[in-house]
Amino acid sequence: MKYALVFLAMVVTWTLASAAGVDDAMMADDGDGTNWPTYGRTFSNWHASPLGDINAGNAGRLGLAWSMELPGITNGATVPLAVDGVLYFTVGQSMVHAVDAVSGRLLWKHDPEVTRVAGHKLRYTWGPRGLAVWKNKVYVGTTDGRLIALDAATGKQAWSVLTVTPEDSLTLTGPPRVFGGLVVIGNAGSEWGAVRGYVTAYDAETGAQRWRFYTVPGNPADGFEDEVMEMAAKTWTGEWWKLGGGGTVWHAITYDQKYNRLYIGTGNGAPWNRKIRSPEGGDNLFLCSIIALDADTGRYLWHYQTVPGETWDYNSSMDITLATLEMAGEPREVILHAPKNGFFYVLDRATGQLLSAEKSGKATWAERIDLETGRPVEAPGVRYESSPALIRPGGIGSHNWHPMSFNQESGLVFIPTMEIAGLYDDAGVDRKRFTMVRGDLNTGLVEFTGDAPPDAGRSALIAWDPAAQREVWRVDTPGLWNGGTLSTAGGLVFQGQSDGMLNAYATTSGQKLWSFDAKMGITGAPITYEVDGRQYVSVVAGWGAAGPAFFGSLSAQHGWQARVHPHRVLTFALDGKAVLPPTPPPLVAQPVDDPALEIDPVLAKRGESLYARRCNACHGLAAVAGGFAPDLRASPVGLDPEAFRAVVQGGALELAGMPRFGEFGNEEVEALRLYLRKRARESLEAMQAEARTGDNSGH
Ligand code: CA
Repeated sequence: MKYALVFLAMVVTWTLASAAGVDDAMMADDGDGTNWPTYGRTFSNWHASPLGDINAGNAGRLGLAWSMELPGITNGATVPLAVDGVLYFTVGQSMVHAVDAVSGRLLWKHDPEVTRVAGHKLRYTWGPRGLAVWKNKVYVGTTDGRLIALDAATGKQAWSVLTVTPEDSLTLTGPPRVFGGLVVIGNAGSEWGAVRGYVTAYDAETGAQRWRFYTVPGNPADGFEDEVMEMAAKTWTGEWWKLGGGGTVWHAITYDQKYNRLYIGTGNGAPWNRKIRSPEGGDNLFLCSIIALDADTGRYLWHYQTVPGETWDYNSSMDITLATLEMAGEPREVILHAPKNGFFYVLDRATGQLLSAEKSGKATWAERIDLETGRPVEAPGVRYESSPALIRPGGIGSHNWHPMSFNQESGLVFIPTMEIAGLYDDAGVDRKRFTMVRGDLNTGLVEFTGDAPPDAGRSALIAWDPAAQREVWRVDTPGLWNGGTLSTAGGLVFQGQSDGMLNAYATTSGQKLWSFDAKMGITGAPITYEVDGRQYVSVVAGWGAAGPAFFGSLSAQHGWQARVHPHRVLTFALDGKAVLPPTPPPLVAQPVDDPALEIDPVLAKRGESLYARRCNACHGLAAVAGGFAPDLRASPVGLDPEAFRAVVQGGALELAGMPRFGEFGNEEVEALRLYLRKRARESLEAMQAEARTGDNSGH
C-alpha cells in the first residue's frame, strides 16, 4: 500500500511536470528553443528562436506536418504557445485549445461562453491575441473582462476573476503575462467609453488580487492613490476624469527578471482629441508611455512618454523588447520599441533614458525626436488647431500590435509596417459638451463615413538595425495589415500575410526562400518549437481584429469572407507531407437589393451616422466588410425590416457573436437598415457599371 502511494505520487508529479512545466527558469532561457512558453517566447520578448534545424539552406523542404480546421471561428489574430509537446492557443471568443504538437490531435477545448454572458461588451470583440501558461495552469482573458485560469492537463476551470466592471467599456484583448507566481493583465476600451487604464497582478495559483496600477490620474476630489498620480495630474487640465482619460494597457507587458520589473506600454487618450480631454494642454501622463513598475508591488519607477499630449491615437502599446546592443563600442542593455507613431526607440533599460530614436516608418507628425529632452519636435499644424490635418501615420499606426522579432544572430529587428494617412478634423464638434458615450467610437473628431479604397494604404516587412538605427532591407507586403514575425537562428524570418501566404525570408537579405498558401489571411504570428529532436513551425491562419475588420475596401480586397473561409492551425516541418482540406477561393461580397424599396434619404443619412459610431469597427467602413464580420450589404437579413430588428434590437444572433443593440429605437434601426440598403444599391450599381466597361478587377 505504502509503495503504491509512493508510485502514485511519482506518477502525479510526473504528469503535472509534463503537462506544463513553465516556470521563471524556462521563460528566462533565451538559449533553449525547445518550447515557446510565453507570448514573445521568453521574458526578452524577442519572438525569435535559437533553433536552426530548419534554415536558409533547407527551407525549401518545409511542408505541412498537420493542420486543424477551426469551424465557426471568425477571429484568428493570435499567437500560440508550445510547452512540452503541447500546443496551446486561443481563438474566436477566447476558445482555448490544447493540441498534441506533433500530431495535431485535440487534447481538450475550453469555451468560456462569452457570447452568452458578455452583454454590451460583445461589441468590443477584438481579442484575444494570446494566452499564458504557468506550472499546471493556462490563463486567458475574455471580451467581458474575465481572467480565467484553466487546468493545463484537462482544460477545466481552476478560477476566474472579473478584472473590470460589467458597466464600463473595458475589455480584455491582450495575452496575460506570468512570472514569479503572478499573472498580470491590462485592458482595452478607451474608444468605447469613459475609461481609466490600469494593470492588475493576481496570484497565479488562486486568482487573489495582489496589486493594481492606474496609468492616468482620477478625480482629484476623490484623493490620489499616491504621489505618482498627484504628479501625473499636474500634466492634465480641465475635467479629464469625466472622460476617463484612457491610457489602457491593452497589449505590451514585459517582465525584466534582472531588475524584477515590469515595463508596460500605455495607449491613447480618451477621447483622442486633447482639446476636449485636456483643454489647456499638457503632456497627459502616462498616456503613450513605457512605464517601469516594481514587479512585486506595482510601484512606479520611471517612465518614458513617446507622445506628450497625444491627440492622434498614437499608442505605445506595441512590443517592448529587451536586448543587449553594441553601441559606441560598448554593450548596452536596452529596450527596443516601435510604437504606432512611426519612430523606432532605443531606451536605456536601467533608467529609461532615451538613447536614440529614428523614423522607421513614414511619420509626418514630427520632424525628429530631440535626444536632449527626449521629446518630439512636432511639425506645424499637426494638432488640427485651425484646420484639418492629413498626417502620417493615421490612428492605426506605422506598426501595431503584430509582433516584431529581434534576431540576435543578425542583430536585426523584423517589423511588419503599415503606411496609411489619417485625417484629423474636429470642425463642428462641440468640444465643451462632449461626453464619452458607452459603445460609440469616441474620438472627439468628425465622424468618418467614407470607404478606404484598396490603394489607400500600403505595407512592408522591414529589417531594421536597432544599433545603427537604419533600414537594412525591405519587402513590400500585400494590403495594409499583415501578420507578426518570427525569426530563427536558422537565418529565417517568417511572416504570414493578408493574402494568405506564409513566407520565409533570409534574415540577411530579405530574399524569399519558401512560401505556403494557407488559403486564409494570416494576422497572428508564427512560433517554432522542438519535439523529440524535430523542429516545427506553427501559425494560426485567421483574419480578425481591428485592422482587417475596419478598413472597408482596403481590407476587403483579399476576398476573405466571415464564416466562409475557414480559420485553421498549420504546423510545418522539413519534408512534411500533409495536404490542406479543400477551401473556397477568395470571394467578393455580392450586395443584395430590393429594387422596389424606396429609400428615405433623411433616414438613411441618420443611419450613416449611427453606423459610423456603432457598427464599422466590425462590419467595415461604409458597410464594406473586411472579412471579420459579415458584409451587411450582402446579408439578406437587411431586406426584411422585422428580421433586421430581431437581430439588431432583439439579439437574435447574439450567440453567434452579433451583439444586441437594445437601446436603438425602431426608427433608429430602420435608419440603419436604409443606410445599408443604400450602400448595397450603390455598390451593386458600381459593380454593374464596372462590368459594362469591362473592368473586371472587382474594385
Ligand atoms: Ca486606440
